[in-house]
Amino acid sequence: MDPIIKVEHLKKHFGDLEVLDDIDFSVNKGEVISIIGSSGSGKSTLLRCINLLEIPDGGTISFHGKNILDKDRNLTDYRSKVGMVFQSFNLFNNKNVIDNCIIGQRQVLKRSKEEARKIAEGHLQRVGMSNFLNHASTKLSGGQKQRVAIARALSMDPEVLLFDEPTSALDPEMVGEVLEVMKDLARNGLTMVVVTHEMQFARDVSDRVIFMDKGVIAEQGTPEEVFENPKNERTRQFLSRYS
Ligand code: ADP
Ligand code: MG
Repeated sequence: MDPIIKVEHLKKHFGDLEVLDDIDFSVNKGEVISIIGSSGSGKSTLLRCINLLEIPDGGTISFHGKNILDKDRNLTDYRSKVGMVFQSFNLFNNKNVIDNCIIGQRQVLKRSKEEARKIAEGHLQRVGMSNFLNHASTKLSGGQKQRVAIARALSMDPEVLLFDEPTSALDPEMVGEVLEVMKDLARNGLTMVVVTHEMQFARDVSDRVIFMDKGVIAEQGTPEEVFENPKNERTRQFLSRYS
């Protein structure tokens, strides 16, 4: 089976700082990939390059075999198929819960109001936010905001959903409710790339774990391989902080 996304020789620098150096990896349909690594190792930059929030300096990113860095790419179309959930939620603060989940569907996918609403309600139900449709997004807890952000991303029917530390900004008591939603999505076959410091989640839910260190993929493998038997000394050092 051909991968949905294939990243080859990806490079990105900010000034003199080489942030991504020759990154290669693929995302297959239905796979859950966790990306772990120290702060500053380039995890967010990698996700942001995949979503073209940053423009890479070199390499290719193919989506179903087509390089999205080509001039003739359809960026809007691509972004609707590769969704992103951010650490800081990024909800529209001037909109209520349901409207947050409708606006992208209306503007990008050109869905009717009725259809967009129906789809949004379905996903808000799935994340346990059905009772908050008309609530102001600013009045929600962090865990509720992140669940709405996930419902909003799902409402766009993404083929792949990228998560950048979705629980890192949450109070500890709210981490579990967001991880439960993500586990449910994984169980139901959503293709996910998750940057996370939740090692238990990475171990239990992922098909593959990628350890990033100073802009390179230092190690990757199944959760068993990476967590039980890390080959790389830097992986061992990193994981020892969590045990
Ligand atoms: P991580 O998500 O693993 O913590 P990041 O991808 O956010 O790492 O950052 C990797 C490195 O790139 C860090 O040293 C960070 O300071 C730097 N960096 C990230 N974004 C920018 C930017 N827009 N301009 C300059 N440096 C950046
Ligand atoms: Mg980051």
